[in-house]
Amino acid sequence: MFADISFPISSYQIFSYKIPIKIKNKLKIGMRVKAPLGSRVVQGIVVDIKPKIDFKGQLRSIKSLVDDKPVLNKDLWGLIKWLSGYYNTPIGVVAKAVLPESFSTKYKLKTQLYVQAVNKNKISLNRAKAQILIYNYLKSKKSMVPVQSLAELCSSPTNVCRKLFEKGYVKLIEKEIVPDLDGIMLKSIDKKIKYTNYQKSAINNVCSSIDKNKFSPFLLHGITGSGKTEIYIEAARHAISQNKTVLILLPEIALTPQIAGRFKAIFKDSVALWHSRLTKSARLWTWKKICSQEYKIVIGARSAIFSPLNNVGLIIVDEEQENSYKQDSPEPRYHARDVALMRGKINNSTVLLCSATPSLESYYNYITKKFNYLYLPERVAGAAYPKIHIVDMINESKENENYGELFSKLLIKKIEKRLLKNEQTILLHNRRGFSPIIKCYDCGEIYLCPHCKIALTYHKYGSFLQCHFCNYINESIPKKCNKCSSYNIELSGTGTQKVEDLLIEKFSNANIARLDTDVAKSRKSVTDTLQNFSKGEIDILLGTQMIAKGLDFENVTLVGIINADTGLYLPDFRSSEKVFQLIYQAAGRSGRGKIAGEVVVQSYNIDNPVIQAAANLELEEYYKIILEERKSLDYPPYSWMVRLEIRGRNRKQLESSMKIFNDGFKNIPRGIQKLGPSFCYREKLKDQYRMQIVLKSKKKSDPTGMRLHKYYKAHLKNKQNRFLNNKTRLIVDVNPVSLL
Ligand code: ADP
Ligand code: ZN
Ligand code: ZN
Repeated sequence: MFADISFPISSYQIFSYKIPIKIKNKLKIGMRVKAPLGSRVVQGIVVDIKPKIDFKGQLRSIKSLVDDKPVLNKDLWGLIKWLSGYYNTPIGVVAKAVLPESFSTKYKLKTQLYVQAVNKNKISLNRAKAQILIYNYLKSKKSMVPVQSLAELCSSPTNVCRKLFEKGYVKLIEKEIVPDLDGIMLKSIDKKIKYTNYQKSAINNVCSSIDKNKFSPFLLHGITGSGKTEIYIEAARHAISQNKTVLILLPEIALTPQIAGRFKAIFKDSVALWHSRLTKSARLWTWKKICSQEYKIVIGARSAIFSPLNNVGLIIVDEEQENSYKQDSPEPRYHARDVALMRGKINNSTVLLCSATPSLESYYNYITKKFNYLYLPERVAGAAYPKIHIVDMINESKENENYGELFSKLLIKKIEKRLLKNEQTILLHNRRGFSPIIKCYDCGEIYLCPHCKIALTYHKYGSFLQCHFCNYINESIPKKCNKCSSYNIELSGTGTQKVEDLLIEKFSNANIARLDTDVAKSRKSVTDTLQNFSKGEIDILLGTQMIAKGLDFENVTLVGIINADTGLYLPDFRSSEKVFQLIYQAAGRSGRGKIAGEVVVQSYNIDNPVIQAAANLELEEYYKIILEERKSLDYPPYSWMVRLEIRGRNRKQLESSMKIFNDGFKNIPRGIQKLGPSFCYREKLKDQYRMQIVLKSKKKSDPTGMRLHKYYKAHLKNKQNRFLNNKTRLIVDVNPVSLL
């Protein structure tokens, strides 16, 4: 027998091996093995097993099996094959993303030795001082203690305990060290809930869909505070009662500790939490337990969609519009929402895509009847929608004769009122750091990252300049302009750190906390901050887009959006959609309890239709406008899109490679359009220049996207190894979320 193996390398080539007798009976398609490849031994995945091959050369043998039992069920194997084709990525590379190499079903927890005294009436330990000391200590303790904890009493506790054990005076117990598997989650507040009619109807629909054992996708569109989480809970309960398992995806689980907390409180140890903040051993242990089907529910970020659960009956994607569901690198560049739909299809599951501001893709799928639609149009328990005030910051500056003032008079007044009444405020400012740019006021020079053509951000704490793309750090802050030597250089623009400083100055009696990626780097601090906020120990929570979604705190009655315009003019077809969603979602954090909420939206473009629509919470109308726009320009969701990017260190060389690559696009079929080639908006990232070609194919003439896929793949045929030449690299981005 022979096995074909695919490795996580950039080539599509598949290699054949002999199967050694000792593993012949265990080896199955989809299993991971180690095998010699060139001069190394590499982990790969078995894609085929066959009795004969036509290969003439010298065949080598598989070295060993990685898993002691198959970890890929048939569904996941199907998913891997689909991912490989759809995202144009070698199967071995996909397999590595689905089953990272360090994961193993053979993983064992580290253990720790415990000791406990055995009750004896008489002991004879003569003059063994240490043994007497330890024995007496253990007897006084009564319960077992870690052997290592005895180090304070004697120099080699393990030896002493072993001697006592040999004499029958103590018991030794080996205990596994179980890592903290929860880490981040907020304690759930128990409340009696009577479902609204909208909730009941949604629950009924979803449950009866689960019973049908058929793939059925839903768009669950519920306004902020409409009680979507309760629907997840009832649906999960139902799926479990039918002996099915449940996958729940959250965009950034650290930021949605409330949902995790709620599920843990209800489903206890049947829930696994899966996210990047788990320690390594917690990750390996959780994965092993998922493999042995000890969990009924897995809640996690993007990669949780690959959890090796059997019999998945329900998949929930919360905040389905979030871009963080898209993996940018490494390959495969998948979108977890699309993978969720495909996994649902393979498993005959019910798939719920949920949001208060659905992606236009999902909204379109609802309009075109590809998705069932569930709508929760009201907030629960009679909570009212917040009242919104738009502040024209241009007017405001004129009136105050103070340009660049960060807080409007209205916002300050409203915050002060909250402080007096002991209510809480959330402030959104979507830029981290202290000052986004350092600028020469004589020649206009802006300090850019030397590796990316992107402005460096000044961070006050620690005093350094940082590139938010490649994390390049420069600790020497320039004193004069390196272009014109002028000393007239200044920090310009405002990041969250600066807003925080100004807040502290203005509201010296308030407790203020900041949440952004800089703070969130530490494992605990996000949860701690949110926990303190929920206890009312923080008056004002300031943050980037991280705090705009998912948070549910009853006492928040004011949301301030400091600069609603951020991102409005980025040259990307999705930029206005993103601004709309951010404002709409942030506004939704206000007034979720008994007290009515307010929102202050500060903008320099108050007549802009996006700002207007978001501030007036006119979702349906706004979606109509954007969809019209997308339709007239053949942008998604009206078309399929593939972005072909070429990267290289040398700008000139990149341009000439691109020219050759581009010349190959001939006979473009009707219905397919080519944009570019052009330099990307972010022209240089991490020392690499970037150019791209974008291909679009109208859904009308290409309903499944197959035509586009066939066309671009035919063009890439000889470039499967991703290197156009040794200096430039090709990146294929299917359904890109951004063209920047
Ligand atoms: P969202 O739709 O914004 O995700 P949540 O699921 O966070 O809303 O629900 C908002 C709040 O309302 C939560 O605190 C939740 O416990 C509560 N809630 C949900 N359903 C009901 C109900 N039927 N009656 C009272 N409170 C409810
Ligand atoms: Zn200058
Ligand atoms: Zn950089």
